[in-house]
Formats: sequence, C-alpha cells, structure tokens
Amino acid sequence: FLYNQVQDLKGAIRVYCRVRPFLPGQPNGQSTVDYIGENGNIMITNPLKQGKDARRVFSFNKVFATSATQEEIYADTQPLVRSALDGYNVCIFAYGQTGSGKTYTMSGPDLMTEETWGVNYRALRDLFHISKERADAIKYEVGVQMIEIYNEQLNGLNVPDASLVPVNCTQDVIDLMKVGQRNRAVGATALNERSSRSHSVLTVHVRGKDLLSNSILKGCLHLVDLAGSERVDKSEAVGERLKEAQHINKSLSALGDVISALAQKSQHIPYRNSKLTQVLQDSLGGHAKTLMFVHINSELNALGETISTLKFAERVA
Ligand code: ADP
Ligand code: MG
Repeated sequence: FLYNQVQDLKGAIRVYCRVRPFLPGQPNGQSTVDYIGENGNIMITNPLKQGKDARRVFSFNKVFATSATQEEIYADTQPLVRSALDGYNVCIFAYGQTGSGKTYTMSGPDLMTEETWGVNYRALRDLFHISKERADAIKYEVGVQMIEIYNEQLNGLNVPDASLVPVNCTQDVIDLMKVGQRNRAVGATALNERSSRSHSVLTVHVRGKDLLSNSILKGCLHLVDLAGSERVDKSEAVGERLKEAQHINKSLSALGDVISALAQKSQHIPYRNSKLTQVLQDSLGGHAKTLMFVHINSELNALGETISTLKFAERVA
C-alpha cells in the first residue's frame, strides 16, 4: 500500500536545528554560532572566552542557517508529512526558548501570506494536493483537531470540545484558524504570552479507502508548537508563573525522556509522566515517525539557553 517513496531513514527520530536570524532593528551583535557544517554539525562559541572551553560542537541530522527559507525547511519535512497518507503516525515538534522561532517554523509570521507559510499550512496544502492526485485509487478524508495543553490540562482550540473537524482544502483550515482567533477572548499580546507557556497541537487525521480492495488505512500528523523551554529562575517566579514553569519543565523533560528511550530502544517508554506524552502516545514509537526542530537564537545573551536547548536535542537525537 505504499505509494510514496519515503526515504529510508536511519531510525525513526530525526532532529533538525534552525538558527533564527537577528531581527530587524536589533543591534547586529556577535553571534554565538561560529560554524555550521554540511554534515549537521554546529559549533557554538562564547566570544567572551578563549581556548577550547569556549567552543562546543553539536551534531544533528541537519542544521539550517539563518538564511534558510520556509520553503527549504518544508522541502526536508515533506517526506515525513506525506507518509501520513500511507498510514503512518507522524509527530513534528518545534522546541526552543521563547522568541527562538518555533511559531515562525510551524505557522509562519502571518496566516495570510502564503510565501512565508510555515510547516503547518504547507503540510496541509501538500496533503490535499497528493490526495487529489491519488483520487482515482484512494478516497481520502481529512480532519483536523486543535488542542492546547496548559498546566497539564487539555483544552480545545477553535472548537469547544476539541472535536475533529472535516476539511476539504487549505482554505477550510485557514477559516477555522480565523474563527479560533476571533473566539479567543484574549488579545494578540496576551495570546502570544499564553502560547509561549502552553503546548499547541494541531492534529491532522487521514483516512484513506482503497477503491479497489476497499481496505482502509489511517494515519495522522501531529504538528506541535511546544511551550518555551527557558528555565525560569525559581527565586523570581511565584504563584501562577511558578506553577506554569513547573508544568512546562515537567512535560518537556517527560517528552525528552520518551524520545530518548525510544531512540535507545528501551523496554520501558515512560509515556505516563505528562499529558503531552499521553496524548501523543500512539504517535511516538512503534511505526511512528518523529521530527524535532530545535530552535536557537544566536544572540550572546541567549547563550545559556542555547547550550541547554542543544543539550536537550542531542539527548533525543
Ligand atoms: P517563538 O514561537 O519560539 O516564541 P517566534 O516564532 O514568535 O518565536 O519568533 C520570534 C520573532 O522572530 C518573531 O517576530 C518572528 O517573526 C521572528 N522570526 C523567527 N524566526 C524567524 C526567521 N527564520 N526569519 C525571520 N524572522 C523570524
Ligand atoms: Mg511561539
């Protein structure tokens, strides 16, 4: 039943690193990224230090420099996305500190501008395109579901009960997003603040019926914009902020534990330790495929977070 030449991947877990460019209006200060190799290596330097302690190399499946376009990012994501149409369960995560470009990678800066669309809309456009191409052989049905996990609680986005909404084209999905934006009581800034402290999961469910054999296949694609990974200073955070920080810490480390247990082919995979890993359990491990985009911000004042982000990523790679 495989119509798609999915590249034979070494293991089912891939890690890509993306470096966010300096933003317009930002002083073009020193970058902590010293070197990016063709082979997936990235060298981080502390420009204030000397000698070999000042440098560290990390290795991933691929590293995207600041010049990488949304199109280039998607080109390397597409085989995984398409495998959902062949009945695979796929998870694509965006990890990194707040402001490092997670939402830019997954959604893009602006819903209305197709050129800068992120992975989410490009993936949906691609799925609809391929399902039309195969329409003579397979009848596909696509549905989307949007949830948010905040303080270990699961909330529906856009639709009250996190129900599955059937969609027929990319425009249907965009309309759904717009409804969600209107429905949310909070303003854009508050939304941005909140979204950096919650995980948002857009799930695309695919059901295909082979018109010859009548057999059914099911696949799904989870597109996950994770909460910001920055460590919160425990001496400063109190009340709600501290609670949020603890929930985020717990769930991101639970995710790291699950993925590294899978990578090491452990007997026991600790799915039960967080809401996020419970929700994604069927799509992590087994025949599922996982891609994690780790984002870094190469500003000098982000160096500490950059190193801890890359260490996290190295553990799951
Ligand atoms: P996060 O979701 O990790 O908090 P954002 O995606 O909101 O970060 O990015 C922070 C800012 O940087 C936004 O203004 C975004 O448009 C910009 N940005 C992020 N990545 C890129 C990129 N690759 N190219 C241009 N601008 C980017
Ligand atoms: Mg974001």
